[in-house]
Amino acid sequence: MSTFSRRKSRGKVEENNLKKDLLNDDEISSNDYNNYQILVPSLSPSINNRTSSNILYLQNQYAIFTRSISQCNIGELIRQPEYVDKNEWIAHNIVTFFNHINALYEVLSDFCTKSTCSTMTGPQNSLYYWIDERGKKLKCSAPQYIDSAMTFMQKILSNDMIFPTRLDRNFPATFDILVRKMVRLLFHCMAHIYAIHYRQLIEFELHPHLNSLFLHFISFIIKSDIIPSDYSISNTNTNTNSLTISNQIEIRELRAELESLSLLYELLAKQWQHAYAQANAQKRKMTNNQ
Ligand SMILES: [Zn+2]
Repeated sequence: MSTFSRRKSRGKVEENNLKKDLLNDDEISSNDYNNYQILVPSLSPSINNRTSSNILYLQNQYAIFTRSISQCNIGELIRQPEYVDKNEWIAHNIVTFFNHINALYEVLSDFCTKSTCSTMTGPQNSLYYWIDERGKKLKCSAPQYIDSAMTFMQKILSNDMIFPTRLDRNFPATFDILVRKMVRLLFHCMAHIYAIHYRQLIEFELHPHLNSLFLHFISFIIKSDIIPSDYSISNTNTNTNSLTISNQIEIRELRAELESLSLLYELLAKQWQHAYAQANAQKRKMTNNQ
């Protein structure tokens, strides 16, 4: 099963390893662990043996978050509120992710030029092609790609027929497809920053923002089922069978792309659980002292 899909069960041994690992901190009780383990939708088994990578963003010391996300309950953050329409909830979140990623990239735009980034690359040398209105794949530089992506998304987000702001307007039938397309573009932008510009982000001390954003973004797309979780190309027995072949191919490609940063997601999810448990232990200590 894919790392990004929901895991329904986890081996007892692996669970105990993770628990032991999290309990290294004296301040955190086993109750903390039990309370917080379910908050991130898809946390992989212990990854202790797989983090000795030279890749900067996979190093523990850089896998840190902004204070606000360390102290918040991600499970609550990504849960669709009762009485709020699902599309409304997705639209609200997509707008937020777009604004944050756009702002973060703007800081780096002087470093991401046609000469430094002549192709739009992501982790493991993956190459992202721009697809024009006629469906033609185009190879372009990273700044060209990101500029086109941001312009495309800005246009969609400000189109009241697609992202309605009035109560008497409904979301269009193509909403799911457009959301998946935007999720894919947003992921490409973040993946490019991780792969090429993470060192610059550390120099600006902005890496906690990208990590917070990435963890929130991936957790949200898993939880909201933007990418059907049990999807398989040959599976005709689920609600995905109403998708056209091109949509199915697109979903398969998107899942494969997400996989290129699955190790990062696992690392961040684990680090966040620790940070959140620590923040809560601290809060409890302060309450007890009062
Ligand atoms: Zn670049």
